[in-house]
Amino acid sequence: MRNRIACSAQTLTQLQPDMIHSVVGGQVYKLGKQYFAESRVQILEAGASSVTAEVSGTFGVYSQTIKLRSGVLSTKCSCPSNEKPFCRHCVAVLLQHYDGMADDQEPTDESDHLATPVVVSSGQEQSNGGHSTSSDFNFRDVTVFVDWLESCVTKLGQAEALPALPKLPGGAVRDWSIAIDSLHRQFLKNEETHSETQASLEAAQEQIVRLTQDLEEARHDAKNAQAASEELKAEIHKYQASLADSDRVGQERDGLAQQLKGVREELEKKGAELGGLSEALTTLSKSLP
Ligand SMILES: [Zn+2]
Repeated sequence: MRNRIACSAQTLTQLQPDMIHSVVGGQVYKLGKQYFAESRVQILEAGASSVTAEVSGTFGVYSQTIKLRSGVLSTKCSCPSNEKPFCRHCVAVLLQHYDGMADDQEPTDESDHLATPVVVSSGQEQSNGGHSTSSDFNFRDVTVFVDWLESCVTKLGQAEALPALPKLPGGAVRDWSIAIDSLHRQFLKNEETHSETQASLEAAQEQIVRLTQDLEEARHDAKNAQAASEELKAEIHKYQASLADSDRVGQERDGLAQQLKGVREELEKKGAELGGLSEALTTLSKSLP
């Protein structure tokens, strides 16, 4: 299962357990924590922005790849779970990774007590030099940030792009503004994807309407063709009947001709008999005195 979510942390080591908890929710976090506690995680490769690992799950060993780049946390696990935004195995890996890295780091008081999900790494704090106070909240930085935030709200109200990031030295306040900017970019990207999906959906709907019309026309044509074929069949029946009639007339005519022939022969025979009779009468009349 693959997932991508916007993330305000800059590195994986900044992903504290309570942040992971707030993202995945109670049940998945509980299971992930249990897997971590039962030492089911084996980290194969770990860095500040990526980690690959294997976790012994309920039905076998699953592989995970987790990356954090440009404010986007992408997780991949070979398990079939549909836990969102990522599964218990990824939770276990992140906890293991955090635990392993925490051992290597010197945690500062400030980073441990920040209420915001944006965590400042010890490295960034060291690089702040003279800009930040020991509490990491420089009043000037906060003022600049609040001003920027106000203009962001105005721009958002006018549906315009966010103003450029304020020029702040490193530290929690700068991280906040980067996180807000990254969230906004992610939002715009989602909006774009949404518009594209909407356009594809509309195109598909239009195509369905066109296909339905074509189908209706084809059905209409088929109906007409069937009617024409019925008519043709009726016509053929009519011709066949008329042919049968003409055959019968022919036969009757032949029979009649035959009868006429018989009558003529009879008449010729009668004529010959009459000729003979007349001759006999002539002979008889001559012999009379
Ligand atoms: Zn998984």
